Amino acid sequence: MAEAINESTSQIRNFYSFTLEGLEAYLKQYGKEKFRAQQIFKWVYEQRVTDFDLMLNLSKDLRAELKNLITFELPPILKHLISVDGTQKFLFDVRDGNSIEAVVIPSDDRLTLCVSSEIGCNMACHFCFTGKQKLKRRLEISEIVGQFMQVQDVIGQKGLKLSNIVFMGMGEPLDNPEAVFGAIDVIHSPWGVNLSRKKITVSTSGLIPEMYRVSEAKVRLAVSLNGYNDDVRSQIMPINKKYPLRDLLNECKRYYRATGDKITMEYVLLKGITDQISHAHELVKLLRDVPCKINLIPFNEHPGSGFERPSDETVQAFHTECMGLGAQVLLRRTMGRDIFAACGQLTTKVDRPESMDISNSKIGGVNVRSFSSGQPRV
Ligand code: SF4
Repeated sequence: MAEAINESTSQIRNFYSFTLEGLEAYLKQYGKEKFRAQQIFKWVYEQRVTDFDLMLNLSKDLRAELKNLITFELPPILKHLISVDGTQKFLFDVRDGNSIEAVVIPSDDRLTLCVSSEIGCNMACHFCFTGKQKLKRRLEISEIVGQFMQVQDVIGQKGLKLSNIVFMGMGEPLDNPEAVFGAIDVIHSPWGVNLSRKKITVSTSGLIPEMYRVSEAKVRLAVSLNGYNDDVRSQIMPINKKYPLRDLLNECKRYYRATGDKITMEYVLLKGITDQISHAHELVKLLRDVPCKINLIPFNEHPGSGFERPSDETVQAFHTECMGLGAQVLLRRTMGRDIFAACGQLTTKVDRPESMDISNSKIGGVNVRSFSSGQPRV
């Protein structure tokens, strides 16, 4: 028998955590027809109506009951910063004194949202600000979809529309696969946000056992590569000790065979460590038989990182060398540095520089003062 609904018996749920199937099952528990879920999805994602009183194809009694079952809560915006180059950063409140960041990156033909998947990150990549904060919590589906919808609502007031989403913000997406792929389901499906799979990218530091999910979801794969051999990569990305380059690149080839899509290899240029001409040669050789394009990212300095950004001339020379060697390589324009929104600079407001643990070490023959963590915290 279906449960009667009143405030004392219902378990109020956040709408943005539901797939269509999930909402149908939830409403069924309370004796509601299946098609009601479809109607509500249309109101929310097509019409952007989130007030049951305005959903006029639902009866008045049903609307009153649904208010005790479902909320449309989005993560509140604590701060919204706009860079001189048009990049926008949003700081969201995600309860318990925690916050996360998402960044809107404009380019000629697209408006990409970079979302967070975790509060902090266990991978401890040395060049990354987020990696200096231990994982506090994995985000829920509603908090990931919520970043997208909240940002879309804000920029929509200016007539703008998000065209792409990348899981490249705080956290390792494949360390939170249930929520990330649940959110992708909502963002991709016609009953949800309805964004093409080709416009969704998941970036990983190389959590190989979960990478099959990216090809299963048929979305784009980006790999945070950053090292031209195991030695260097292991020193700047502890995960490489557990999942070395050969296995990672084999997994990338498997992804390509399954999807036909090239992989984006993110490669951070660190002064003296990964930015030399000889490194360009090793990098191109390493990726010779991996169908990919290389994205060069000049390091974005942040207090206490211990690494330096190479000069523009060095960056340019590295780029030219890779092209000369026949690689498909892009030099990513740095966006949002003035608002601390550039790649690798995201953090929670409570974990800004003061909390860093700095130590001296040597990578690729170069002395660096860096975060001292030898292992990924997985
Ligand atoms: S680069 Fe990504 S995986 Fe590495 S510490 Fe930063 S957020 Fe985590």
